[in-house]
Amino acid sequence: MKLKKYILCILILPLLMLVGCTDASITKASKNANTYTMDITYNEDHSINVEQKLEYKNRTDNKLDNIQMHLYPRSFRQGAKSSVVSSLNYSKCYYKGPSYGDVDIEYVATDDDEQEVNITGNDEDILCINLETGLNPDETVLIEIKYTVKLPNINHRFGYGEDTINIANFYPIACVYSDGKFDTSSYHYNGDPFYSDVSNYNITLHTPEKYKVASTGNITKQDNADGINNYHINALAMRDFAIVLSDKFEVVSGKINNTNVNYYYYKNQYPNECLKASMQSLETFNKLFGKYPYDVLNVVEANFVHGGMEYPNLVYISDAIDVQSDYINVIVHEIAHQWWYGLVGNNEYKYGWLDEGLTEYSTLLFYEENPEYGVDTRELVKNNTNSFATFVEVYKKVFGEANTTMNRDLNEYNNESEYVYIAYVKGMLLFDNLRELLGKEKFIQCLKQYVSDLSFKNATPDDLVNSFEKSSKMDLKNFFDSWINGKVQIIQINDAA
Ligand SMILES: [Zn+2]
Repeated sequence: MKLKKYILCILILPLLMLVGCTDASITKASKNANTYTMDITYNEDHSINVEQKLEYKNRTDNKLDNIQMHLYPRSFRQGAKSSVVSSLNYSKCYYKGPSYGDVDIEYVATDDDEQEVNITGNDEDILCINLETGLNPDETVLIEIKYTVKLPNINHRFGYGEDTINIANFYPIACVYSDGKFDTSSYHYNGDPFYSDVSNYNITLHTPEKYKVASTGNITKQDNADGINNYHINALAMRDFAIVLSDKFEVVSGKINNTNVNYYYYKNQYPNECLKASMQSLETFNKLFGKYPYDVLNVVEANFVHGGMEYPNLVYISDAIDVQSDYINVIVHEIAHQWWYGLVGNNEYKYGWLDEGLTEYSTLLFYEENPEYGVDTRELVKNNTNSFATFVEVYKKVFGEANTTMNRDLNEYNNESEYVYIAYVKGMLLFDNLRELLGKEKFIQCLKQYVSDLSFKNATPDDLVNSFEKSSKMDLKNFFDSWINGKVQIIQINDAA
């Protein structure tokens, strides 16, 4: 996500049909992934009916007694434990006053056996699928769920505004199993509170015909009957699946290395500039980090409270950004996330700096590679350094001390600005310092190694260190430790020095 700166076997046939024209890395990753099949009907009253089938394979070493799934719409309901937006952004999000969303689970079955709906979790936000006889390693279970989602009226990642309908984080998605348990962290207004495994998506979508659709994946078939558009969408080896609908969308398109780039807009006055920046971002990052393996990227103007938001093949760019250069900056940032979050995933709840810091630094690299944008990248680093040093000073005055450790859960930050300074600003400074240490060539080589080692997987900070050490043949543990544990002192850069 881009926050405001410094302010504080049912599926085998369709899958095989796609394999022939798909990047080999995707084909390989898709074979080792779970598959979601969803029949989705969007209704004019902002409700969504879904019939979902999840083919879930136990890839752990343990026998599983249950499978747990996030129900993120539960966090948008009336009576949820905590707000989905910070108080600072409340009125911008709920521009017509409070509005609530939710998900109502109507039916759950495993391998055709209906079972009682069991909702658990810290805030009744986890669907627990009990497995009566357990699921052994490498065994597969078919989970069937029928549910109705209600979208809130909110300028957010999940909700509808005046111009777009943002359908993300709407479906029950399997929690990641790690360290012997499912990670059931609740939604939080700070950052992007998500963590997921790469999966395959086989989608049928029905919408009133007036809407244009921007989504993750490829629309492989489309027809119209009785005023309803029906789409078939296939998406292999994706971190998540999201859709944006609008009856106002205009589209401009281009192509960079086998990837179709589409810019959907309704308000922006410079669509061709936005498309150009999107294509340049993709081209630059293809060259720096390794090729984006997917054949579509949709950059979508949307009603969204923060600067932007990343989903696989799909990024939101907020229509509230008035300055075109800021708008371009968000486009570059969100497209960098296609590598840092999309291809190489991470637990964004625990290690927000890992993808945000790298994404912020990738934006700097973009400006370095594309000097026509006129961004002085050394000035950018200096501003970030001074801004962080000021943050620490102010924090010490107000709170007595500043916690500058970086591996923190989202709910462990005192406020949104503290999260921004640690994940974005300090994260970016960490990568700049590392680049100074290694030199640009070696630094880029290390990033390529990281992508090559962890594409379609979830990375931890240790994985990042390992890839960098492997590629650079240097011992970097102390370097990373001192940054992550808060020992590094970041001091003001004086112009006269
Ligand atoms: Zn971001």
